[in-house]
Amino acid sequence: MPDTSAVDTPELVVSVKPLSGRPGTSIDRAISFKTAQGLGNGLIGVPTDGIVHLKLLLEALLEGVLATGQVNAQAAGQCVRCLGEVTMPVEVTFQELFVYPERADGTASAGQDFDEGQPTVVGQTVDLNPAVRDAVVLALPFGPLCRDDCPGLCPQCGVPLAEQPDHAHQMVDPRWAVLEDILEDKKEEG
Ligand SMILES: [Zn+2]
Ligand SMILES: [Zn+2]
Repeated sequence: MPDTSAVDTPELVVSVKPLSGRPGTSIDRAISFKTAQGLGNGLIGVPTDGIVHLKLLLEALLEGVLATGQVNAQAAGQCVRCLGEVTMPVEVTFQELFVYPERADGTASAGQDFDEGQPTVVGQTVDLNPAVRDAVVLALPFGPLCRDDCPGLCPQCGVPLAEQPDHAHQMVDPRWAVLEDILEDKKEEG
């Protein structure tokens, strides 16, 4: 049974009816959609309602339909060093074979080895949601940076060092602090 709860973007459930029983034929599609759920990891991702463009080629094979997709979107997140905003383009391709259910069932006799999780053509449609989600998530960095050489935050006071490159603290050894107080007093006296 297809798991309909996993279908978060209906535009990505695409009819392959014209390909049915016609190996060698193909369909070109360009699909733009808004994400129903954000696509990403906890630090960066395509936000909910983010626009995603998908260029799709669906090719009819004997055993099923081969989907080749090119995804373009804009991801947003937070720099792991300075916690500033990070935006980056996501450009990623994926390829997924959707087997015809009758082929998937007959794998033993056909001598072909399909994974248990092998996606199938369901009701003459293919659901590209998992493929698009996986491709986008895998393309995103685990430690996003606002720029490669982001200097991060000041360990003393936490200001972003990129905004205040000359930022410095007087590094006073606590043992000298007493002496400094004395000197300050002297200055005031003088
Ligand atoms: Zn940063
Ligand atoms: Zn500081």
